[in-house]
Amino acid sequence: MQFLPSSLLELITQTSTNLPADVRAAMSIASESERPSTQSAQALNIILSNIDMAADDEGPICQDTGMPTFVVHTPVGVNQIRIRKAIREAVAEATKRGKLRPNSVDSLTGANSGDNLGPETPVIHFEQWEQDDIEIKLILKGGGCENKNIQYSLPCTLDHLGRADRNLEGVRKCLLHAVWQAQGQGCAPGALGVCIGSDRAHGYVMAKDQLFRTLDDVNDNPVLAKLEAQVMEEANQLGVGAMGFGGKASLIGCKIAAANRLPASFFVSVAYDCWAFRRLGIRVDAASGAITQWLYRDPDRPVERMAKGEGFPLTGREVILTAPLTEEIVRGLRVGDVVLVSGEMYTGRDQVHAHLMKNPPPVDLHGAVLYHCGPVMLKEGGQWTVKAAGPTTSIREEPYQADVIKKYGVRAVVGKGGMGAKTLAALKEAGAVYLNGIGGAAQYYARTVERVLGVHLMEFGIPEAMWHLKVNNFAAIVTMDAHGNSLHAEVEKETGEALAALPKV
Ligand code: SF4
Repeated sequence: MQFLPSSLLELITQTSTNLPADVRAAMSIASESERPSTQSAQALNIILSNIDMAADDEGPICQDTGMPTFVVHTPVGVNQIRIRKAIREAVAEATKRGKLRPNSVDSLTGANSGDNLGPETPVIHFEQWEQDDIEIKLILKGGGCENKNIQYSLPCTLDHLGRADRNLEGVRKCLLHAVWQAQGQGCAPGALGVCIGSDRAHGYVMAKDQLFRTLDDVNDNPVLAKLEAQVMEEANQLGVGAMGFGGKASLIGCKIAAANRLPASFFVSVAYDCWAFRRLGIRVDAASGAITQWLYRDPDRPVERMAKGEGFPLTGREVILTAPLTEEIVRGLRVGDVVLVSGEMYTGRDQVHAHLMKNPPPVDLHGAVLYHCGPVMLKEGGQWTVKAAGPTTSIREEPYQADVIKKYGVRAVVGKGGMGAKTLAALKEAGAVYLNGIGGAAQYYARTVERVLGVHLMEFGIPEAMWHLKVNNFAAIVTMDAHGNSLHAEVEKETGEALAALPKV
């Protein structure tokens, strides 16, 4: 198996940087469904360009390269211990090359292992089969969408939908609710992998396994095929839209499996994946380890370009912001304004926010732009370079953000998915704004970074450190302003009404 290490490294690199054909096709359809010049259409333009940039430069599509999850089928008699070792080595090597972000964190100490290896990371499932080749499938599913997974125990009562009983109508309600509760936080448009039945633990495994089906396949079970089609149609009427900005493209796939259950339990387990739906697979020769076939790719079809034009067509109405920002400038911004930020920015996410609650910041944050981002960084020639740097889900910082804004004078918070009522009140009181970047557009945003000016709190590990960046024309949309307005609250209310108005089956 001398070629297995290089085959695995290629699988990881391609999965992280090059979306499969079925996801590309689904994203094209999603972008055609949006009315041009809407905020969702603008977000999709950036997303499509980002997909091209990642493939062209072999850079991570999204900076969150997720929990690497491998599903391996081996012929009887193949040494699985050797394959596991090779997978772990390939994961460490891909991390060193900046194809994966160091994402494996000790749950007790918070320490990042730095190489994506640790207890139960990466996740590897083995199965035997009666074929001659080895099949290795990989999915990279990031934290933002992983946090929007949801499990229902029927019967239950759902917001806007009422009671969900133990029947297919109850399941339908759960799946529509799953799309609604994700809003933009899981980087919509997303896809659902679903398991009806089983127990709590295996139901989630089966739900994630459904994400290995191609988005354009048709379920063998006609009852489930009908339910999948119905959920697709109805979810795309809710109006969540790309990044939760409101719009037509909310869901790009719904894949459902059913498993037997205990008489007393009826679980519906949902794995929500984002538009950056990174999954590929290979078949390798069991003797040499060389790749014999790629899965989810058509060898006769070249990788299609996704961007229809410029990634972010400028209208001339964009507001130019140069950081640090003044209160006057920030109070002049309104929800819906498109901004281009230039100047200095600081990254800060979970560990930085928790740290700032008890310690002063290592830099002066008055007038600062604070970017919720855990970038992929590499040191090249003694200099840090940004390999991927899109926004992370902001709602995780809701318990801290208001205090950080008020205490340290932050004027703009950049992230994705929006924040809650406490932050909205602090924006109004202190004179600050929330700017929504395009989630997952890690290559697009990496190109706006002109220079890495420094790094603080490096003891938290690369994704959690406070990076000091100089950016140029960083595009974002004001979705929460200093006047008490929140696009997120508005879209959540409107989509909730749309959910309630769907026909009762
Ligand atoms: S696209 Fe969004 S949800 Fe998906 S991995 Fe990236 S940041 Fe997370």
